[in-house]
Amino acid sequence: MPEGDKNLTDADMSRGQLFALTFAFILKHRLTKRAMSDLTDLINTVLPNCLPPSIYHFNKILDVDDTINTHVYCSKCNTYTGKVTDGVSQL
Ligand SMILES: [Zn+2]
Repeated sequence: MPEGDKNLTDADMSRGQLFALTFAFILKHRLTKRAMSDLTDLINTVLPNCLPPSIYHFNKILDVDDTINTHVYCSKCNTYTGKVTDGVSQL
């Protein structure tokens, strides 16, 4: 059995499931980077090494960076009109 599939608790939850639940919580509550870091530190204290050790590693798994891309569509005909990256239009 791969290490990632090993059950962590009596709740019969894998590391992957805990990661997904934690990430869903972070998104739902729009946690700041600091709150996200504190939450993962807390969970890792209870269950050592069950989540990535830092936001850097968390983002590496999710393959995300700090860039926000907004894709713009015409509100009338739904035609794609371009992309806005970090507030700068790429139209
Ligand atoms: Zn249009």
